[in-house]
Amino acid sequence: MARPNQARLSLQALRHNMEVVRQLAPRSKVMAVVKANAYGHGALAVAQTLAPLVDALAVACIEEAQVLRDGGIEAPILLLEGAFEETELAAAAARDFWVTIDNERQLQWLERARLPRPLCCWLKIDTGMRRLGVDPAQAALFYQRLTASANARDDIVLSTHFASADDLDSDQTSAQLEQFEASCADLPGPRSAANSAGVLAWPASHYDWVRPGYMLYGNSPMISDHPAARTLRPVMTLVSAVISLRDVAVGETVGYGATWTASRPSRIATVCIGYGDGYPRLAPAGTPVLVNGRRAPLAGRVSMDMITVDVTELPGTSIGDEVILWGDGLPVAEVARHAGTIGYELTTRMPARTPRVVADS
Ligand SMILES: *Cc1c(COP(=O)(O)O)cnc(C)c1O
Repeated sequence: MARPNQARLSLQALRHNMEVVRQLAPRSKVMAVVKANAYGHGALAVAQTLAPLVDALAVACIEEAQVLRDGGIEAPILLLEGAFEETELAAAAARDFWVTIDNERQLQWLERARLPRPLCCWLKIDTGMRRLGVDPAQAALFYQRLTASANARDDIVLSTHFASADDLDSDQTSAQLEQFEASCADLPGPRSAANSAGVLAWPASHYDWVRPGYMLYGNSPMISDHPAARTLRPVMTLVSAVISLRDVAVGETVGYGATWTASRPSRIATVCIGYGDGYPRLAPAGTPVLVNGRRAPLAGRVSMDMITVDVTELPGTSIGDEVILWGDGLPVAEVARHAGTIGYELTTRMPARTPRVVADS
């Protein structure tokens, strides 16, 4: 048997989650965010599945967009961070990429460019993330300069990005929406604000375009349980298998640093997946995995190629048994919480070493 690790990808779950987006935001166009290799899922397979179902795709930079065009994707693709250098605008025009304009430098590049055709521009307004975007007081001026430039198409989209939409108790999202509406009150044209959390929990943010990423992959970004997220289905299921079993006596330790000590006669299963395969090293003892569909806790440290699991309470466990690290039956967000991070990071950091296996089911 070959090393059994797989990141299994369900295209049916992906299509289902897209349908959930449509139901939640029925009057909005949908831009599916597939940056960072579709959050680690494989950008081309995800884009091929979603392209017929969405109005546009979004990536971080032109290199990510080229991969999709080279792979035959014809949908419009927005560059969420816009151009990093002046020459990218001509390349974007040539391949019908849309660009974010979020600062003076990018606007100047656009104004003085000589392009084969005008670009669809998304003007980004900073309403409180304070990372990218123009000052709200400057939004109208930027908009006018874009309108005056022959290099910008007429359909300039006004956009902003939320900092705390995952938290229903935060008042920042309402404040950002107010700021956004005030800054573009007198400007015509389509608007866009919602990320996944906006789609799920802030209907007032849906506007003309929604921009979901994480929820398309079947995960809830909300910090507490949210009814709209319950029907999402995980696209990635990370699978490995038991390759060794042993009995450990009371007082004996398991793993590097001997950080875990048996407090009862224990059965330890070794599973051939570690941080070199995308499982987080910071996952502590007690983090759940599914062995044959039943929960068991990690025991001892995560190694590069292996983890050790306490299967004392799963007496039927044998070598070759399937182990699910996250996905079907175990949300990646739950594993991430144990490891002190978010599900976004776990899927996005999945290395090439772990084969993606695409299933149409
Ligand atoms: C990444 C990103 C999104 C998608 O965010 P999710 O939380 O994954 O839905 C939307 N808009 C912008 C500008 C982004 O950078």
